[in-house]
Amino acid sequence: MQVRELASRIKKGDRIALAKGITLAENDPEGAARLLAPMGPPGKAFVVGVTGPPGTGKSSLVDRLIEAYRTDGLKVGVIAVDPSSPITGGALLGDRIRMSGHAEDVNVFIRSMASRGWSGGLSRATSQVIRLMDAAGYDLILLETVGIGQSDIEVVGVSHAVLVVLMPGLGDDIQVSKAGLMEIGDIYIVNKSDLEGADMMVVSLLSLFRGSPRSPPVLKVSALLGEGIDKLHDDIERIRSTFTAGSTDLRLKSIRGMIVETARGAAMERLAVVSESKADRLAKQVLSGKTTVEGAAAKLSA
Ligand code: GDP
Repeated sequence: MQVRELASRIKKGDRIALAKGITLAENDPEGAARLLAPMGPPGKAFVVGVTGPPGTGKSSLVDRLIEAYRTDGLKVGVIAVDPSSPITGGALLGDRIRMSGHAEDVNVFIRSMASRGWSGGLSRATSQVIRLMDAAGYDLILLETVGIGQSDIEVVGVSHAVLVVLMPGLGDDIQVSKAGLMEIGDIYIVNKSDLEGADMMVVSLLSLFRGSPRSPPVLKVSALLGEGIDKLHDDIERIRSTFTAGSTDLRLKSIRGMIVETARGAAMERLAVVSESKADRLAKQVLSGKTTVEGAAAKLSA
């Protein structure tokens, strides 16, 4: 299929065309760029990043949010960035959500993307997938990623609102601040409030924010029991309402994230194909004093 026809089918909301476009974004960055070029700037879809350590209940929560937003009549896209690291055993977040019964709903589109260690490329591809879903008429995009490393955090940088999902018994708050999660959240969620220790977790989070200029809401939620979801929905809506009212700030923040991540991704993808022999040659030049490490690095990435 020609790129032009694919673009027009995506804009009409054709799901198969959208799936093809996403595969293009994963495998052929330039092809995806050509596909996106006629589509104009993203503007309709509100992107909610959902991040947090593994096992805190992100997938369960995404499932609840799909439910809530489908009740509102919104078309919902989900991008689940799958960690394929040996630590998590490559759990397929997307599959877990897909199994939950929304798969039959034509107004829900779920796609998982594997990180496979190509973190730079993943951010670039994620931003392209968001724009494809936006063009396809999705109103809300839930971008789920495991918040364990810097690269996951960069991925959610393209969101209009970021939910950080935590749970009782995660250990102390240091773990949270160390992972860089304290800087990125617009809403903090202590999920599994049906378990012991949720109140304590809320108190320690609030104390982390004391004295900082930011005071994001900290909510107790149980995705399992469906408790606290209404309040979470309200808080997301508060942010989304500024977006639907035309906020350029939120749009600019997201687009800025897309530009930075695409540039970073391109640089990383370029570096990944750097020839070993060139690096070897440069190493010899550094050893012999012909150039410095910095000079060689500049040559390598040029
Ligand atoms: P993720 O790795 O962050 O996506 O977490 P999951 O959504 O897969 O949830 C991890 C485990 O926690 C699963 O066994 C869920 O059933 C369970 N879980 C999720 N939400 C809750 C909750 O609110 N309460 C309790 N008790 N368990 C939950």
